[in-house]
Amino acid sequence: EAKSAAPAVGDLSTEMGGADKIFETVIVGGGVAAGYAAREFVRLGAAKGAVAMISREAVYPYERPALSKGFIMNKAKVPGFNVCVGSGGENQGEQWYVENGIETYLSTSVTSIAFDSKTLTTDKAGTIGYKNLILAMGARPVTLTDMKMDDAAKLKGIYTLREVEDTQPLLDALIENKGKKALCVGGGYIGLECAAAMTVMGLHVTMVFPEPHVMQRLFTPEMAALYEEVYAQKGIKMIKGTVASGFVGDSNGKVKEAHLKNGEKVPCDVVVVGVGAKPNVELCQDKLDMEARAVKVNGRFQSSIPDVYAVGDLATFPNAFLGGVSSRVEHVDHARRSAMHCVNVILGKETSDYAYLPYFYSREFDLSWKFYGQQSNETLTVRDPGANHMAAFWMEGSTVVGAFVESGTAEEESMIQALARAKPTIDVAALKAAKTVADAFAV
Ligand code: FAD
Ligand code: NDP
Repeated sequence: EAKSAAPAVGDLSTEMGGADKIFETVIVGGGVAAGYAAREFVRLGAAKGAVAMISREAVYPYERPALSKGFIMNKAKVPGFNVCVGSGGENQGEQWYVENGIETYLSTSVTSIAFDSKTLTTDKAGTIGYKNLILAMGARPVTLTDMKMDDAAKLKGIYTLREVEDTQPLLDALIENKGKKALCVGGGYIGLECAAAMTVMGLHVTMVFPEPHVMQRLFTPEMAALYEEVYAQKGIKMIKGTVASGFVGDSNGKVKEAHLKNGEKVPCDVVVVGVGAKPNVELCQDKLDMEARAVKVNGRFQSSIPDVYAVGDLATFPNAFLGGVSSRVEHVDHARRSAMHCVNVILGKETSDYAYLPYFYSREFDLSWKFYGQQSNETLTVRDPGANHMAAFWMEGSTVVGAFVESGTAEEESMIQALARAKPTIDVAALKAAKTVADAFAV
């Protein structure tokens, strides 16, 4: 028999007057945070039928990072990487949601929220009332239209990727254009991961981005140099310090050339635009307090309206691990943990503030890096001669506040996590003298 940690759903009916259906908690969104929130409700014994999830995607929540890694290389398909396989958990497919009584509305968009009457309006499922609301709408890619290139946005062959729905057409285009030319606009996560994937898929890839090196916001010049070296070996060309200013199509309306601000023209058959993401705040931006383009929440993910929570990419939160510094994190580990913390708060199991050790990672070709902690202006980087094995440490004086390893062993990966958590004081001179990654970890 299902155990209920919350009042029966029927108790809420008078509060939400006219809603077609009423739930104890409604999750808006069907991405990473939504999937992990659903699992946490089940783990904590929420009653069957108490929780609903509404997603505009046609598929059950999946581990989004797999889109730009396995999926785009035709190696992994949904539902193969449904949440929560990415963290070693169960693959939650339709059966899991049905058996556990999480009422799921797929291919359904929430079109408005009446916070006063605690009622959502959807495009396909009528109105839905809630007692608690978890906003988990994530973010969406910045597009050419956002960049005021409306004409270019109409051309075929130009893609962004965020969901299965937009990544499948990109995959089809890669298969169709094998041996042809691809362009990645952006030198961040999407740019690097897609450039690698498109190369593996047999396209000739160029990247264009405004910064002096890839992953400018995180990588030190030494880290970027390693990546740029490997990418050059794989035949990827990088055009730095400029941006795409327009695209030209052929007579069929298919892209054939990019025009760059520096005057260069780059022939291209497939274009991926990866120039950042923007939170999906339209449903709530005029009604909830906002910060850093997202929903401002406290350390328990509560927004400025009682019983309304925001998690994942959509939330700007005070990070107790960083002494309450206001943070917004667009990465999967935070999406999972913030969702689980929030559910514990809702079910009265958690009263403390979220203390998050930032964790980012990526994988391209045979490269794989992990980063934990904080960034600072001082970094020390060490690379094994002639190898891709590299470590970097972000320092505040002689205190380590962040750590990175590329092609690290499992032991090194746990060490960087432990270092970033403990923030030890170390012998900086000895670290500077380290000639190999092993020397550095020995310090
Ligand atoms: P999302 O997972 O984006 O989910 C939001 C959901 O809300 C979607 O299902 C969306 O359709 C739905 N939605 C939005 N509006 C509505 C509405 N009005 N009604 C109904 N539903 C709605 N992070 C890493 O740390 N490592 C990685 O390797 C990595 N790789 C990535 C690769 C790609 C291609 C992308 C796009 C992101 C990657 N990330 C990675 C980032 C990570 O996936 C995100 O931080 C994470 O998915 C955020 O989770 P979320 O639940 O907040 O948002
Ligand atoms: P990022 O913010 O990581 O990178 C965007 C890049 O595009 C930046 O280098 C940016 O430069 C550059 N840029 C901005 N404007 C232009 C322009 N006009 N022309 C060319 N380049 C430009 O965003 P992504 O698009 O790569 O990723 C989207 C989302 O997906 C993010 O939330 C990201 O965290 C997530 N993601 C995470 C992954 C991971 O964690 N491994 C993998 C894939 C996606 P500048 O910095 O100067 O603005």
